[in-house]
Amino acid sequence: MIKHNYPLKNITTIGLGGTCKELICPVTINDLLKINKSRKHIYVGNGSNICFITDYYNGSIISLKRMKRFISHDDSYIYCSSNISCNKVSRYLYNNEISGFEFLHGIPGTIGGAIYMNAGAFDDELLRHVHSIELLDSVGNNYIISNKDLHYSYRKSNIDKKSSIIRVTLNNQAKVFDRNILNKLNSIRKNTQPIKQLSCGCIFRNPKNQYAAKLIEGAELKGTRVGGIYISRKHSNYFINDGSGTYKEFLKLIKIVKNKVFTKYNIKLQEEVILVK
Ligand SMILES: Cc1cc2nc3c(=O)[nH]c(=O)nc-3n(C[C@H](O)[C@H](O)[C@H](O)COP(=O)(O)OP(=O)(O)OC[C@H]3O[C@@H](n4cnc5c(N)ncnc54)[C@H](O)[C@@H]3O)c2cc1C
Repeated sequence: MIKHNYPLKNITTIGLGGTCKELICPVTINDLLKINKSRKHIYVGNGSNICFITDYYNGSIISLKRMKRFISHDDSYIYCSSNISCNKVSRYLYNNEISGFEFLHGIPGTIGGAIYMNAGAFDDELLRHVHSIELLDSVGNNYIISNKDLHYSYRKSNIDKKSSIIRVTLNNQAKVFDRNILNKLNSIRKNTQPIKQLSCGCIFRNPKNQYAAKLIEGAELKGTRVGGIYISRKHSNYFINDGSGTYKEFLKLIKIVKNKVFTKYNIKLQEEVILVK
């Protein structure tokens, strides 16, 4: 399926930006192979860590959301497609009494996006649990990255951004199942994060030994608003779009925060959210 001049706000959870040349949603691997990857393009999962900062993205946005989704497991591994949501994975494992992936619950992305970003929460991160990842490179070659070839750190991985993540195998290591963990982590998340509003998660990376949210609060920026975009009162590292916000206001607020935090703490904040134009 190809949609031309598709509104970018429908592609990300913060809902900003103009339109794109085309949104392509392959249904099969064959469809995915046929897409011309020599032109400008970007893969999107659920768009929960991306913000488009343009009136027109002159390229293809490729979403695997229409491809087959699956998850299964055996005693050693968990197998899933990259387009399945983090919530589905953690819920499936919970229902099968497998611990170790409760931290994924509430991350509003796909497993593909979470792998690329090395998403994490509650002192855990996804790439720690990966056995192997199956990808397609930009000329259609299928390849596998196994754990020993993965290099990752806080919200970073060495995965080639021109490749699409197709399938993931996770280690099924936890031997003891604790039914309470998922609900406990869920309620912490609900109490500390604005999960029901238009946002793209944390805007800035935590500087070494610091929390970006604390620095933003310390610079007295909580609640600061530029037009339709404001800093959440619940979590200062989240910007919320009240529905009327624009990417220009979003960028202006980023600038204000960076300047104030730098003036007060001499610390340069860096964006965690991926800005695409
Ligand atoms: C309310 C809220 C709470 C959040 N909480 C957390 C949290 O606790 N921890 C955390 O780490 N993050 C959090 N996030 C950020 C975000 O949800 C995660 O980074 C998530 O893993 C992104 O997944 P996605 O599918 O939305 O990826 P996208 O935002 O669509 O994409 C992210 C990156 O991955 C690439 N990508 C996506 N899919 C593929 C694929 N199949 N193949 C190749 N590349 C791909 C994209 O090109 C892009 O570079 C939160 C966001 C929100 C809005």
